[in-house]
Amino acid sequence: MGNKVITVTSPLLPSLDDFIPYLQDIWDRKWLTNNGHYHKELERALCEYLEVPYISLFTNGTLPLMCALQALRITGEVITTPYSFVATTHALWWNGIKPIFVDINPETCNIDPDKIEAAITPKTTAIMPVHVYGKPCDVERIQEIADKYGLKVIYDAAHAFGVKVNGKSILEAGDISTLSFHATKVYNTIEGGALICHDEKTKNRIDYLKNFGFAGETTIVAPGINGKMDEVRAVYGLLNLKQVDAAINSRQQVAIKYREVLRNVEGISFMEDMPGVHHNYAYFPIFVDAPKYGMTRDELYFKMKEQNILSRRYFYPLISEFSTYRGLESAKPENLSVSHKIANSVICLPMYHNLDNSAIEYILNLIVK
Ligand SMILES: *Cc1c(COP(=O)(O)O)cnc(C)c1O
Repeated sequence: MGNKVITVTSPLLPSLDDFIPYLQDIWDRKWLTNNGHYHKELERALCEYLEVPYISLFTNGTLPLMCALQALRITGEVITTPYSFVATTHALWWNGIKPIFVDINPETCNIDPDKIEAAITPKTTAIMPVHVYGKPCDVERIQEIADKYGLKVIYDAAHAFGVKVNGKSILEAGDISTLSFHATKVYNTIEGGALICHDEKTKNRIDYLKNFGFAGETTIVAPGINGKMDEVRAVYGLLNLKQVDAAINSRQQVAIKYREVLRNVEGISFMEDMPGVHHNYAYFPIFVDAPKYGMTRDELYFKMKEQNILSRRYFYPLISEFSTYRGLESAKPENLSVSHKIANSVICLPMYHNLDNSAIEYILNLIVK
């Protein structure tokens, strides 16, 4: 060890031997995109796997966020979290919507429901929370607030593939949830994504929106965009779906090994499994308490980097610190003190299905010192 680079993630890939015969079939069919055979099959298979009634595939995980906002006709201000990947807030910006940042809960790293009501104004139309690291938001509290004020709820569930709470898919929460199938996610189609909704009417509208607004050969019902997934990636997705359960089990084993050792390291904390939750082990964040650990987060991060361990500081910097958003009233650091504290202490350790024991040991030895 020491020479081989250990990346923060590594994609789940179907075997080429399995993939190639399907490519031949796609070549034979000569139907490459626009709701093709494998596109339909993957939508069906994902509905079954995720236990959701309606799903629309997309070419990435950002476009379903943008289309969700269009479909629900969201305007004005939307309450969201600064502790996420920038795409969450960019989707609002592209729709001409003002993001209102609300601080997070330190236990879950998700938007703090206790702080949502104070951020609601007459212009608020929706809440857009994120299930950060795949840890479920307090969806009941959030729904209560939304119902009380007549707001829509769109979950950026990019991290939450396959996550269940008391046996029920987390993707059932809110009005719409969106997924990313980017190569770095638990389940990937190289690039890809999906939108989950609860009724056929919304599903139809989403399918128009992701295809330029076409509802039939000559009818345009909305200023849609092009968000369609192609047949090659749909087949790739079908093959990956067969091995995603095994991949999640392997990730769980990695988490168990990390926790076993890190439990005894002064100044390093991590997240435990939540009761009643089926987790997907998408990420393994640790939080560095510099005075107790004897080293700052960045010192540990760069020390690991020098030793070829490419961990990542997700999510640092906060979205509210980027130039696009920094000027917003709600982006002020004093409004987001928990988010800043977490963003300045977090490191996501390498986490993927085939991270081997010697790599895990090497990483842990470096952290234990
Ligand atoms: C990955 C990700 C996205 C964007 O997905 P893409 O497929 O990369 O477009 C959106 N939100 C969050 C929280 C993500 O992690």
